[in-house]
Amino acid sequence: MKETDIRKALQDGSSYLTRAGAETPYLDACLLLAETLSLEKEQLFARLSDPLADTPHDQYQALLTQRAAGVPVSYLRKRKEFYGLEFYVDQRVLVPRPDTELIVETVLEVTDTLPHFDRIHDCCTGSGCIAVTLAKLHPGIEVSASDISEPALEVFAINSDRLLSRQLETYASNLLEAVPGTYHIIVSNPPYLLSSEVDTMQASGWPEPRLALDGGDDGLDLVRKLAVQSKSRLHQRGYLMLEVADPQMETTVAILEACGYGDIEVRHDLAGRRRVCIGRNGARS
Ligand code: GLN
Repeated sequence: MKETDIRKALQDGSSYLTRAGAETPYLDACLLLAETLSLEKEQLFARLSDPLADTPHDQYQALLTQRAAGVPVSYLRKRKEFYGLEFYVDQRVLVPRPDTELIVETVLEVTDTLPHFDRIHDCCTGSGCIAVTLAKLHPGIEVSASDISEPALEVFAINSDRLLSRQLETYASNLLEAVPGTYHIIVSNPPYLLSSEVDTMQASGWPEPRLALDGGDDGLDLVRKLAVQSKSRLHQRGYLMLEVADPQMETTVAILEACGYGDIEVRHDLAGRRRVCIGRNGARS
């Protein structure tokens, strides 16, 4: 008999995760205990003095142990919120990041001002957070998606089914190689970390798929290829929108310029970092 209550379990879990070096130990403990008890996090706080039985306590402990070993909370809860929607996630895909909401906002801005820009392709879609969100918020847009990883496309299908109750067109494809058709907008959050960064992350047990993170020596291998491939897949004046990291922005702009994109623009994320690079196909009309 461990004789514990919810308050004590949260305190103990939080101290354990603090010692393990977690960045947000109390929040993580709350989310994991809420998960164990099938409650919302807010409901936990109304029950702080409730006793915690041995079985859920053991389950909670097992989740804390995995979290301490570096498994993201989103993988343990099998879900992550993105743009107000709840996406299913597991180790087959990158966990959606809040920074990527900027691409969704940028697309919605363009489609609001140019309503005939209604064929959009999301390359390297992963969980589908960009494509499914766009299709959900803007049912008039025809959204398709691709990923080189078949397991990632299985996760995409789960999200498409849960959030849209239908399947979007998807292609298993190395970038745009097997993607047919032409588009008004091509968006991508491609793998853009440096191989050396991914080496370090994986050496410390980081569980996200390498394929979703590794962009080569300077992180921009896929950006270079995609900038070239998109030229022939975009309508005249169509948009290419790419997420990269702040220190890669000058090079990304130079890549788009060298490929002949015009009206190049850089957008900043909520932390003020340069995050999205936009270019338009063809000369200004
Ligand atoms: N933004 C992610 C990170 O910093 C990387 C995502 C990506 O490579 N597309 O971990």
